[in-house]
Parts: sequence; structure tokens; C-alpha cells
Amino acid sequence: MSAPLLLQQGLVGGRRQDIAIRDGRIERIDARLDPRGHEALDATDKLVLPGFVESHIHPDKAFIADRTEGLRAGGPSAQTLVAALKKDFTVDDVYRRARRVMELAVRHGCTSMRAHVEIDSFVELRAVEALRRLQTDLAGVLDLQLIAFAQEGIFHENLTRDLLREALKAGLPVLGGCPYMDRDQRAHIDWFFDTAEAFGVRLDFHADSSEDPAMLTCDYIAEQAIARGMQDRVTLGHLCTLDVLEPEHRARVIDRLAAARLHVISLPATELHVKARTDLRRTWRGVTRLGELRAAGVNVALSTNNIVNPFTPYGHPDLLRQALVAAMVSHLGNLDQMASLLELITVNPARAIGLQGYGLAEGARADLVVLDARDPAEAITEQAEKLLVVKSGRVVARSRRTTELHI
Ligand SMILES: [Zn+2]
Repeated sequence: MSAPLLLQQGLVGGRRQDIAIRDGRIERIDARLDPRGHEALDATDKLVLPGFVESHIHPDKAFIADRTEGLRAGGPSAQTLVAALKKDFTVDDVYRRARRVMELAVRHGCTSMRAHVEIDSFVELRAVEALRRLQTDLAGVLDLQLIAFAQEGIFHENLTRDLLREALKAGLPVLGGCPYMDRDQRAHIDWFFDTAEAFGVRLDFHADSSEDPAMLTCDYIAEQAIARGMQDRVTLGHLCTLDVLEPEHRARVIDRLAAARLHVISLPATELHVKARTDLRRTWRGVTRLGELRAAGVNVALSTNNIVNPFTPYGHPDLLRQALVAAMVSHLGNLDQMASLLELITVNPARAIGLQGYGLAEGARADLVVLDARDPAEAITEQAEKLLVVKSGRVVARSRRTTELHI
């Protein structure tokens, strides 16, 4: 167990506070606390937030942009390019690339991560093995929750469904579907609900990536979540199609998502890279309607998704960067909107992935990040340095980067 810490005079909710940390938990938060018996860390006038939560990321297919030509007009899709590469993934190869993602994420303030792990006839269970090894090796540094994820669909062959069940039997707590990869999207969704019910696990869908309103599935997923009593236990990534619905239709669908208490994760960097490549009239951005979803009471989060692969060649697991991308693409520039963006990378994803004891409160787990900024708008605008990252009461990253200005 690490020594008790006292984080001094950081800005919590706009006020200077001391935060005492002991045995991995936040013991007390107050204007001034006695430093005796603690290792003191100065955070005077620096913004303190609970640790960032990466709720939708693909470490197993990260850092492979140098193995492929990437996307080009008329060329193969990102799915096709990556599927070809997956056949050659070994356990050690996945481990090395995924570890690099996680070390970068920690250095940028992430203390909990939910990762999709691909399971199919190409990679079988090799990525699961690599990621489970990382879960053990990074215990105490990063909490890693794994999703048994079917990126290639489940009805093209018979192996994937068996492998997914095997991964759930081995203890993976979430099952991940991708309806648009199968011709019959509803049959795909039904299989995932049936299997999740049988194993008592949560669901996480890659849903509605298309700009064709006829491909919409989130309303059906909401209906199933309610029918099966799985409210609060189902998460949807992407939801690009929402953006192209007529406003009245969209409002009705968003109300259903709220009624089913679905969690929505927006992945703006990937949408901006992948969408509307062949449209000669307009470049559809494909980012879901963050403002409308929030206004309707839907729990919305932001996440990184892909790292240096054909889906997002410049992807990087820094959630503060995603907050800036979302601010730009979703017209969220007022000070209150900028402040709310930080909830989309902290408390909201924590809720989406079911984290317990999370937050800046006495008794909560001591997972936090100290930013070189005074408020959320400055943190996002300046892409502030993460000065300290604390995980379960221990400093896991400290930045001392300085620039001398000669003017
Ligand atoms: Zn994804």
C-alpha cells in the first residue's frame, strides 16, 4: 500500500481544496487539511478532475497504420483492410501494441478503460489472451474492462458465436455486437440480447454507422432493452444515423433511448475520418447529436475508438483531445458547454460502464487527474498538460515538461 497523499489547494468545483488520500480512497476534502503523516503534492490553482474514463476503444487493432495503405477513394473499407491484417495478429504482437495504447492513455489522465476485444475466425481468441494478460500486468495502474466483440458480424460463419460464448464463460463481463455487419440486423440484435441474458452480462453495440435512415436500429435496441428489463445495462457507440433523421423522427427516437436508459458514446475522430468520402456535394460529418441527446436526459459520453489504424490514422488515447474535437464538430463553445464536455470523459462514461465508487468525493476511489489549467474551457482550449495522474491512491504519471519563453 502506498503512503498517504495530500493533494494541496487544487481547484475542485471552482474552489481551492485539499484532498487527503489513504489506502486507495479519498479520505477527506476540505479547504485546509493537516499535512502531517502525508506526502504533500502541490496543486495550487490547478484543475482537479476524477480520472478520465475511456469507454470505447480498440487497443487490439491499434498501431497498424504502417501495415496498410489506408483509405482512398474507391478502395477497400477500413473493416476490410483490418480484417486482412488480423489473420497475422499473434498474442505478443497484440500485447505490445495494446500496452503502448494503455501507457499513453494513463499518461494522459485515463484511470479506467473499457476495451473492445475482437473475436472472430481471423483472430480467434488471441486478442482476448493478450488483453487478459495486460489486465493482470497493469493492475493498480489502469482498470481494464473487456468486451467480447464481434466486429465481423456473427452470421457469415459458425465459429464466431461459439468463440464469443467461450470468452463469456472465461469471465468477460460485456458482450459487444455490430448489427450493420450482418444482413439481418434484427436477428443479430436478438442473438446478442438472448446471449447476454443467458450469461448475465451487459451489452455494448456498435450501432447505426450509416447515413441511410432505413438502417436505423437504436429504436429496436431500446425496445428490446425495455422488454428484457436491461435498462441501464446497454451501451451504444456511434449512432451516426440519428444525425440524418428528420427532426421530429429524431426527437421520438431520442425519447425512446432515454426511456430505455441506454448509454450513448460518441466517437467523433473516427466519424470525421471515415464518413462521406464519396459524396461530391457535401461532407457529412456523421457525429451523433450530442446536444439533443443530453437535453433529453440520455447519458452521453465521448471516447477515442481507434488508434493509428485505417479507421483513424491520427487516433490518440487522450480524452481531452476528443473533448476539443467534439466542441468543434458539435458547436459546443460556450463556457457552460465546455464545462459539460469534461463530464463526457469522466462521470458519464463511468456511469455507462458501471464503475462503482467513482468521483471526487470522500470515500470514493482515489482516481484523479490534475491539469495545468484553472477551468474546463482553458483545459480544452489549451489542451492542458496532465501534471499528475493518481490511480487508487498512487501517483502513476507525473509530467514535468516545461517550456522557456524568451520574449
Ligand atoms: Zn469502435
